[in-house]
Amino acid sequence: DPRLQAISEAIRVVPHFPKPGIMFQDITTLLLDHKAFKDTVDIFVDRYRDMDISVVAGVEARGFMFGPSIALAIGAKFVPLRKPRKLPEYGTDCLEMHVGAVQPGERALVIDDLVATGGTLSAAIRLLERVGAEVVECACVIGLPENKGERRLNGKPLYILVEPR
Ligand code: 5GP
Repeated sequence: DPRLQAISEAIRVVPHFPKPGIMFQDITTLLLDHKAFKDTVDIFVDRYRDMDISVVAGVEARGFMFGPSIALAIGAKFVPLRKPRKLPEYGTDCLEMHVGAVQPGERALVIDDLVATGGTLSAAIRLLERVGAEVVECACVIGLPENKGERRLNGKPLYILVEPR
């Protein structure tokens, strides 16, 4: 997809943040680039519009920046999944959502900006499955290369647009 190059280039890399050795992928610069931001949402919308998805579940905080636009375009509701603790960001193992937000049998898409260890998305899958929802797929703008080969999490498909630069 020719749009992916510009999407990748719109993501700012912040070296050694939040600690030495980490190349932080900052998607706020993608949000500043109207075309790249719209292309990102459009790619997800084209993929998910005919998959009978009724819930888009976005992971705090940057899943909140892509999820609602996708949900509106595909005719689904948006459910925020909150992180009870803010630190450490990697490998979040617990997420929370409101009781009654998702009903048994609903088909859900999980969205976040980036997948690293996959711990956060795994927690999202477990939470949605606990209330009887079916997780159709997890989708992220950025996936670390170690996820590239596997592209599955807890047996669920993982869809990634770009790798870190
Ligand atoms: P995981 O649970 O897969 O190890 O980490 C993914 C979570 O950490 C996501 O919620 C993501 O927002 C956050 N995260 C970790 N590293 C980065 C990064 O370099 N850039 C951004 N934007 N988020 C990150």
